[in-house]
Amino acid sequence: MRMIVNLNRCQGYAQCCFLAPEAFQLLGNEALLYNPAPDDDLHEKIQRAVVACPVQAIRVEWQKAHQISRTEEGSHGN
Ligand code: SF4
Repeated sequence: MRMIVNLNRCQGYAQCCFLAPEAFQLLGNEALLYNPAPDDDLHEKIQRAVVACPVQAIRVEWQKAHQISRTEEGSHGN
């Protein structure tokens, strides 16, 4: 998954840091550090942080967990 936090919008409420400390850290009162490519195992925690952010600053792109890799099914070699 990929994640972007709009730091212009972020007000440092730290909800995300409480809900997903593996991905978000607040330095001091304002500086938010975050992992832009958190592990898929954090999916639920990140989702909670997205919902809990009072200013909707967190945007996540959920990558398809199962990327379908298809071979050419029409060509069977005969
Ligand atoms: S919950 Fe939202 S406003 Fe608060 S620190 Fe996280 S991103 Fe910023």
